[in-house]
Amino acid sequence: MTGTLDITINKTAKSRISEQDVNNVPFGKCFSDHMFVAEYADGKWQKAYITSYQDVPMSYATSALHYGQAIFEGMKAYKNDKGEVSLFRPMENQNRLNKSAIRMAMPEVPEEIFMGGLFELLKLDAAWVPTIESGSLYIRPFIIATDEAIGVKASETYKFIIITCPAGKYYSEPIKVLVETNYFRAVHGGVGYVKAAGNYGRSLYPTKLAQQKGYQQVIWTDSVTHQYVEESGTMNLMFVVGDTLLTPELGDTILSGITRDSVLTLARDWGMKVEERKISIREILTAHGNGTLTEAFGCGTAATIAQIIGIGFEGKDYTLPPVAERKFSNKVDETLRLIRKGKMEDKFHWMLKVL
Ligand SMILES: *Cc1c(COP(=O)(O)O)cnc(C)c1O
Repeated sequence: MTGTLDITINKTAKSRISEQDVNNVPFGKCFSDHMFVAEYADGKWQKAYITSYQDVPMSYATSALHYGQAIFEGMKAYKNDKGEVSLFRPMENQNRLNKSAIRMAMPEVPEEIFMGGLFELLKLDAAWVPTIESGSLYIRPFIIATDEAIGVKASETYKFIIITCPAGKYYSEPIKVLVETNYFRAVHGGVGYVKAAGNYGRSLYPTKLAQQKGYQQVIWTDSVTHQYVEESGTMNLMFVVGDTLLTPELGDTILSGITRDSVLTLARDWGMKVEERKISIREILTAHGNGTLTEAFGCGTAATIAQIIGIGFEGKDYTLPPVAERKFSNKVDETLRLIRKGKMEDKFHWMLKVL
């Protein structure tokens, strides 16, 4: 621990690791032995500790529950064949958490707490990082408002918490997506560019309607004209048209994905043409019509690449080329997997070794 705040470590009396096959657990339901907590009060981070993963008693008046002052991050740690554990671009997550904190009138988390806490936690729970090829330890850092008071105002107390769960074989089925032209995810001046809890709650109903129609996800469009595509579910959206990789440009309605940035970096490195700009759904369907749309996919930490094999728009379904033919996204997926597993040169210094 560097800086001014020491982390108190209370190791669990009994590890639960022997009860689990970390390479083969359902995602997001099995949590590792420990968690990290930092508490904020009186204008500063006061106390930081690691304790066994546990439930804590909480007032029903806790402000995060009522007014949504809650933000989160999602990131992963990987284990290579030597048993070394590394994080993928973790500083980006720290920076983004703090961007979310500012927008939601919450305190930023300094590096000594975010990275310091994360490193200590991973050292204790290294055995929970899956070893199989596609495995990782999913890491969920989050901040919640903890004032016990009803009344709409920024809380004066907060908790920053990190919990982790093994993610074994994560196979994402190719998806059919419905272009959503009624509901929207994000609006100019809003909070779409940050990972605020409410963004996800509000997306569930339109997603449910799409699922009832036989799609797995929606493609969100801009809230003003509903003509321009923005994201797919909770992933950034990309297309390959001809020899060009297309993705919507960043702005306050689009989450600045770390996977998105990594995919664009690889594409540029491979000499591919990349365009970040407004993309209308008409442009995509025209490219589909003339055969130049060869790939469409979502990208994010959970799946890395989620292949889109069908797009529904105004009552019609458009079928996209088979996943096996998608040279670019398959190569990206493989490259990121190899870099994360320490099997390919980490040219862009994305991996940070923990132990
Ligand atoms: C988290 C998230 C992404 C993907 O970000 P990554 O850093 O790549 O995981 C994309 N869109 C939304 C809305 C998100 O919440």
